[in-house]
Amino acid sequence: MSVLDLARAEIRALQPYSSARMEASGGQLLLNANESAWAPTGDGGTGCNRYPEPQPAALVDALARLYGVRREQVLVGRGSDEAIDLLVRAFCRAGRDTILIQPPTFGMYAVCARIQDAGVIEAPLRRDFTLDMGATLAAVTSAVKLVFVCTPNNPAGSVVPRADIERLARALAGRALLVVDEAYVEFADEGSVADLLDRYDNLAVLRTLSKAWALAGARVGSLLAHPDVVALLRRIMPPYPLPLPSVNAALLALSGWGQANARAHIDIVRAERVRLRAALAGLPGVRAVLPSQANFLTVRFDDAGAAYQRLFEAGIVVRDVRRYPGLDDALRITIGTPAENERVLAVLADRSMARGAA
Ligand SMILES: *Cc1c(COP(=O)(O)O)cnc(C)c1O
Repeated sequence: MSVLDLARAEIRALQPYSSARMEASGGQLLLNANESAWAPTGDGGTGCNRYPEPQPAALVDALARLYGVRREQVLVGRGSDEAIDLLVRAFCRAGRDTILIQPPTFGMYAVCARIQDAGVIEAPLRRDFTLDMGATLAAVTSAVKLVFVCTPNNPAGSVVPRADIERLARALAGRALLVVDEAYVEFADEGSVADLLDRYDNLAVLRTLSKAWALAGARVGSLLAHPDVVALLRRIMPPYPLPLPSVNAALLALSGWGQANARAHIDIVRAERVRLRAALAGLPGVRAVLPSQANFLTVRFDDAGAAYQRLFEAGIVVRDVRRYPGLDDALRITIGTPAENERVLAVLADRSMARGAA
């Protein structure tokens, strides 16, 4: 059995759009794509009058090296959000198939499923936000095609141990694709599970340049998966997903200098995470600060609404996560620069806050 047997038959049979850049590359005089012969004003040598490569070779190579996989295991797109959407559309038949998630979790999985009219089955995390293996496996019906696991979890910050990922991959073999979303793995103690791809053809890993690589505005994310899955998703991806300026920004970020810069900032975030957590935990009105392996802290307050308002009035916007199960008293605070984190602490330490919460 191939992992492609899990995908929609009509997508496997689809004749994909064949773009000019796919049919012919190289050459000196490009007169095959109805592009302008002239670079736009202020182009500075970028060459934006030309369509970009569908999967830019230099970027795919750099990402494959960074993530420790082969280039045919990489699909690069507009953020990992695009990969989530492509996976749901390729694997879930509208009105019939289902995804499985573990709330509280990243909202895009369910949104993409609903757009596709796929079902959403929930196997909630335990009260301490660890994976409930029994409940997750018990929830896998024959309609479940994709199982999303977010680790480190957004919004809880908790992680799923590698041994549990392997156990899930084995249990789901021939039944469903296991999609491990590692958007925050650069900030975690434990590394990626991408090295398991060669062992489990039903495993896929989502990575992004939006968080640790400081490129949220460029929209560059990757799906790491079996080459057949990568090839399948390319069939339904728009022909030119990646804007040239974004590709260039990503290549710069992944250069030696860019990598050193990113690592320095990851070190700061990890150190600030320890400092900020301890400081927040000692403040009036703070009930608990969840342990986090990501670049944010999720904080329980006596009165989260008042804390949100107080920060907002001081010009600080944090994420209200009270609508998530198990987090109805919590705010999610992204870790900023040390100076920014100081401002958060100063506002929350204000004594009138404690009075308001009392
Ligand atoms: C931020 C985030 C993403 C989205 O990343 P993009 O690459 O910017 O689309 C994916 N998953 C999780 C869990 C996130 O928090």
